[in-house]
Amino acid sequence: MSRKNKNNTYSFFNCIEKNFDKATKYLSIKKGFSGILEQIKACNSIYSMHFPVKIGEKIKVIEAYRVQHSHHKLPCKGGIRYSTKVNQDEIMTLSALMTYKCAIVDVPFGGAKGGIKIDPQVISVEEMEKITRRYTSELIKKNFIGPGIDVPAPDYGSGEREMSWIFDTFLSISSGEVNALACVTGKPISQGGVRGRKEATGLGVFYGIRELCKMKEYMLSIGLNAGLYGKKVIIQGLGNVGFHAAKFFHEAGAVIVALAEREGAIYNENGLNVSNVILHLKNTGSILNYPESKNIENTEKALELECDILIPAALENVIHKNNANHIKAKIIGEAANGPVTPEADEILEKKGIVVVPDIYLNAGGVTVSYFEWLKNLSHVRYGRMGKRFSENMNAELIQSIETVCRKKIPIREENLRGPKEIDLIRSGLEDTMISGFHKILDIKKSFGIESLRTAAFVLSIKKIINSYEKLGIFP
Ligand code: GLU
Repeated sequence: MSRKNKNNTYSFFNCIEKNFDKATKYLSIKKGFSGILEQIKACNSIYSMHFPVKIGEKIKVIEAYRVQHSHHKLPCKGGIRYSTKVNQDEIMTLSALMTYKCAIVDVPFGGAKGGIKIDPQVISVEEMEKITRRYTSELIKKNFIGPGIDVPAPDYGSGEREMSWIFDTFLSISSGEVNALACVTGKPISQGGVRGRKEATGLGVFYGIRELCKMKEYMLSIGLNAGLYGKKVIIQGLGNVGFHAAKFFHEAGAVIVALAEREGAIYNENGLNVSNVILHLKNTGSILNYPESKNIENTEKALELECDILIPAALENVIHKNNANHIKAKIIGEAANGPVTPEADEILEKKGIVVVPDIYLNAGGVTVSYFEWLKNLSHVRYGRMGKRFSENMNAELIQSIETVCRKKIPIREENLRGPKEIDLIRSGLEDTMISGFHKILDIKKSFGIESLRTAAFVLSIKKIINSYEKLGIFP
């Protein structure tokens, strides 16, 4: 059942337990109540399933999971991963990460995760649809999905299209359920999705790293100047998260020196144009042989290149005890879930490399999922009620100032307009990522903790304990 870590002797779930345990020594738990920590660590419900799907002329048995790690807040929330590597240990771990992540960014959900063991790259769209709908039916049968129960979202290998199928399958058995749209997030806009969800995780990664780079003293302590401009960045994984992170770093003036994908990596010390690389990828099916760049056949070697910021944005355990010593980046931003093993973490800490942890840094996706869920429950687009009102108020205000001053104020029309949905989503996301970072930093400073990961776990566990206390678990 439990897949051993590459280069490790324990499972992925054990890795997260190790990180959790490191944080607990900073917590003051009432005497006799340390059992609460065991409760927080454990997965509350694990649904492991097998279901048959007719593919061509054959019956294929699909292995799949949905794990609800914590019910301290409901609904549970987390994506569904489509990959041949899916296994119970992985999904348990990812569901636990969701719990800690949601607590850090004040998203009122318990953590969950789903996984379907298939390769989305080799099966047809029709087969994907059949499998996704059947998986949803299995969740419905066991009461593992619903706006107030458990709300899936996209993850590695899934996207808007799959979320639409999930919603449609759920709707077909819950006719008259007025909140049915809120049973899943990451939907297309036309199906109740919210503007800004697609790029949310990548943008959140950007906001988080930008905030760290603003900390002058912190940056100087690792030998870097403040600010993102001109910083050399490497991104591993050009999926939805990696692509958007790369795009926002590039737009902010950072230099993307290398991009890595499954088939290899490309390098240019003067910077790569991310949109052009994507065009090249679409045209040729690979990032390799992109003009004005050097191919690196062994994609893992890209992680070891000279840079300021390294962003692993694909899968778990890519930085382990055998390559951690070769990492030259000063900052590692965990856009993926669990890309650094605990052993690697220790090596990186000794080397003075700052690791910005997944449970904070990639929380942008679930944050905007929360906004989508709220939109679905309120049945109205963000900005619809107030946009015109703000616009009129702004215009009136400017007019009054101009009348009093007898002077035209040089202000652009677009700065007077009321907020659209995308403006509100982005500002909510930016605020969440900035305040999350400072809460972690405050804990780090006040407890004298070396690593941001441990500080993030302390923050998260404290919040979950607080929530259990208010639930009345403690006397
Ligand atoms: N799959 C994403 C994550 O790992 C998003 C989850 C969600 O939006 O519920 O954070």
